[in-house]
Order: sequence, then C-alpha cells, then structure tokens
Amino acid sequence: MKDETKCLHAGYTPKNGEPRVLPIVQSTTYVYDSAAEVAAIFDDPTKGLCYSRFGNPTVMAVEEKIAALEGGVGAMCTSSGQAASLLCILNIAQAGDSIVALPEIYGGTINLFSYTFKKMGIEVIYVDKTASDEEIKKCFKENTKAFFGETIANPALTVLDIERFANIAHEMGVPMIVDNTFATPIHCKPFEFGADIVIHSTSKYMDGHALQVGGVIVDSGKFDWTNGKFPELTEPDESYHGISYTKQYGKMAYIIKARMQLMRDFGVYPAAHSAFLLNLGLETLPVRMKQYCENAMAVAKFLEASDKVESVSYPGLPSDPNYALAQKYLKGCSGVVSFVIKGGRSAAAKFMDQLKLASNEVHVADIRTCVLHPASETHRQLTDEQLVACGIDGGMVRFSVGLESIDDILEDLGNALAAV
Ligand SMILES: *Cc1c(COP(=O)(O)O)cnc(C)c1O
Repeated sequence: MKDETKCLHAGYTPKNGEPRVLPIVQSTTYVYDSAAEVAAIFDDPTKGLCYSRFGNPTVMAVEEKIAALEGGVGAMCTSSGQAASLLCILNIAQAGDSIVALPEIYGGTINLFSYTFKKMGIEVIYVDKTASDEEIKKCFKENTKAFFGETIANPALTVLDIERFANIAHEMGVPMIVDNTFATPIHCKPFEFGADIVIHSTSKYMDGHALQVGGVIVDSGKFDWTNGKFPELTEPDESYHGISYTKQYGKMAYIIKARMQLMRDFGVYPAAHSAFLLNLGLETLPVRMKQYCENAMAVAKFLEASDKVESVSYPGLPSDPNYALAQKYLKGCSGVVSFVIKGGRSAAAKFMDQLKLASNEVHVADIRTCVLHPASETHRQLTDEQLVACGIDGGMVRFSVGLESIDDILEDLGNALAAV
C-alpha cells in the first residue's frame, strides 16, 4: 500500500459484518475464562490484552497504522509528545549514562534534556552540527546511549542531515533517534536514511485539528542492541521473571520493552477516544500535508518580498540555508514559516496583535492559521544563550500556515505588517 492508502486502511480491517469505522473500545480491562489465561498474558503481554495501561484495541490500531507509515516493526502511542521524548531515552539510558543531541530541537525537549534528565542522572551533550564528523565523535563517551535530533527543528526550521548523523551514531555503537513531528512520515521517512527510532508529537500535523495532545515512538527494528552497550535489553529483566528482550522478542525488543516495562511503570498511555480522534486526523494527513506546504510556500515568498521583514526561514525557499538538505530529505517542508520582523521583540508583539485571521495561540500545525512569539511564549524558560543555540531571535515569529484560502492568509499578513 502507498501512504494515502495506508492512512485509510492500515491498522484496522473489518471482518464480515463488523463496523466500517475503527471502533472506540472504551474499557479498562478484558475478560478471560480462566486465571491461567490471565497469568499467561502477565508472563508475556504480547499474547493478549489485560489492562488498558499496556494496550487497547483502538490505540493499537493507530499504532499499527503509524508503524506502517514510518516503515517500522512496531509503535507505541503515548499521552503526549513529551512522554514519547522521555520514554524513548529512558528505554535505553539510566542514571550514569549520557546521550548526545543537536541543540536545534523543540524547547520542551531542551527543558526535559537539560534539567529533568540532569536531575535523573542522565547527561545530555549538545553538539554543533557545523563541527566535523571527527569533532562530533569526540563528544561521545563510553556511557553514551543515543544520538538525538529533529527532522525539521521546531521552531528554528533547520533540516537534519539524518544520513550523516545516523552514520556517526552507528560508528559510535548507538541508535539515531529522530523527532519527525514537523515532517510527518508523509514528507520524510527517517528510517530510509538510517535512523533507528522515530518519535512524534501527534498533537501537531498527525492530529492536525488541535483536538488532543499525544505522542508516539516507532521502532525500525534495525538497531543491533546486542553490541554490548545495552545490557538492559539483553540481560534478564528481574521485573519480568528474568526475560531478555532481545532473546525473546528479537527485532521488536526495544518497542516491546518500552511497553512492558516503561508503560507499565509510568502509565502514560492515551485513552481510546484520543486514539480514535488521532486516527481521523491520520486519514486525511496526505491531502492536508500537501496543502499546508503549498500555502506555506506562498507565505514564505510573500514575506521574503516584504521590507518589514529582516529574514525568512522556510527550507522550501531556494534562498534558505537548509534548501539543499530539504531537497534531499523532504517531500515537503511543512506549514511552518519562521521570520524575523525588523524592530525586534516589540515589533514582533505589535505585529501579532494586529493579526485578525491568524490566532495567537500556543500551538502549531493546526488546520487553522496560528502564530506564536517563541521568545516570549514557548521558549521563555530558556536563557538568551539557549535561545541563540536553538536558532531563535527576539523578533522571531513562528507562523503556522493553515488551510484557509491563501488569499485570506496573505491579506491578513499584509495588513498586520503594514501596521508595524
Ligand atoms: C510539540 C512538540 C513536542 C512535544 O509534544 P507535546 O505533544 O506537546 O507533548 C515534541 N517535539 C516537537 C518537534 C514538537 O513540535
């Protein structure tokens, strides 16, 4: 199946007489004839459903659809993108370990990595992507367990050189983890370029309608966890009768461990109803992605021509420093355009207040056009140094182009710019 078909049909195939639409199975638990059957599922949770903190038929159908879209062996949904970022690392790193990350990532991920992980004893080493491969390799330590980056960074809109960084990660014996939220599997499949694990905030384009917060972790099944660096996957898990995930589950070791161990203990599984809504979003993802990109390209060109605008970042613009990487990795550059208004922080705030159609809100990737001022909103907890490191200027505006008529979007933009 091609992506458009997978979006509609993967994960749920009704049998004779069953509902056409994915049913919402709103139940915390599942009934069995004997205690022995329940015991068998406790021994091996892949054998059946026992409790909706580990799995639920509606959520699992969506997991199967997303795994199919990314080309992975399995996926696990989480109650937010943050939960996906947390668990994808905790599944392989613990106190005393470190991970290497690019600093051009989502502000919430930076908070998690730089402060909360530090408290948990996991060090995050940020690397400069302009450094040579040799210099980047020197940042990896004996205890380093992963390399982390974002396909299209939110909000810096830099494009990740997935192949280059995945090669470095593999040479250092660790998996490449890619946050593919802005590209979605419709516009980039990181596994095809060597990434090992993909995560998403499904709250963005996948849901697309600003209905519910969610996340997902997808496993390519390709990383060799038996290279000696990942005893948590190869050695007996005492909390599961001494099973070895790699021995028992082979290519599915990582994603099954995430569910059996971390989902059991952290309990950040989405509700069936949330998964049902996410599935609705996924069904139309390919048509929406195409239109977002078309509208965003028109907005980027319009802004580039305005004398009120200092600079425009959109990897689809030939003038953008990320254009070549975008051509290699992306079929579309998403609906998000970042730009810097002349006059800094105060001019940006004035511009935002003048917009009538675009709403000022803490969200991105909605079907409705929305706008945000990272320096005073999402990224306000970051220091000026951190702001610069993740590519944010005080006058930067993150404009998330929706699916309204492009004529109306440009008129609104033009009026607001004229008032600055
Ligand atoms: C929003 C976002 C997250 C966090 O996801 P939530 O669903 O808000 O928890 C992580 N990564 C990226 C790239 C995001 O845009």
